[in-house]
Amino acid sequence: MGTLARTLVGEDADELIELLNKALADEWLAYYQYWIGAKVAAGPMRGAVTAELEEHATEELEHALMLVERILQLGGTPLLSPSAWYDMTNCGYETPEDPYVGVLLEQNIEGEQCAIEVYKELMDFTEAIDRVTYEMALTIMTDEIEHEEDLQALQEDMELMKQRQ
Ligand code: FE
Ligand code: FE
Ligand code: MG
Repeated sequence: MGTLARTLVGEDADELIELLNKALADEWLAYYQYWIGAKVAAGPMRGAVTAELEEHATEELEHALMLVERILQLGGTPLLSPSAWYDMTNCGYETPEDPYVGVLLEQNIEGEQCAIEVYKELMDFTEAIDRVTYEMALTIMTDEIEHEEDLQALQEDMELMKQRQ
């Protein structure tokens, strides 16, 4: 634990750790949703969609790492078991039962929009009390915004392809 790091945050440290653990649950579920989605994806532009899903999976894992490091600095305990992911998640998990690329994109866009809200709330919570976590949340939210746009661009390309056929 970073004793001074925790002291700087003050009385809200435990509540902040809880928010960070909830975001950690989201990141792991998002990671798996992307990772398994990339394996099962089928339909037009499969290669482009799969590449984007795999890239995002890697980036969600990086977000999980950032969250764990901050939780530890604040003297918290990161979620230790996958069973906690479902209990703690804000954004849930969309099972890719239908592997069609259009459905996967739709499910993952929903996840990204939820993630953007989660980090926006984390920024609001930390802005006045913890600039370090605030900057981290901003960095992650910037990635989530990029993720949303990447997936929507693929959706647009599919739509254009349909119109031109
Ligand atoms: Fe993420
Ligand atoms: Fe994302
Ligand atoms: Mg991308």
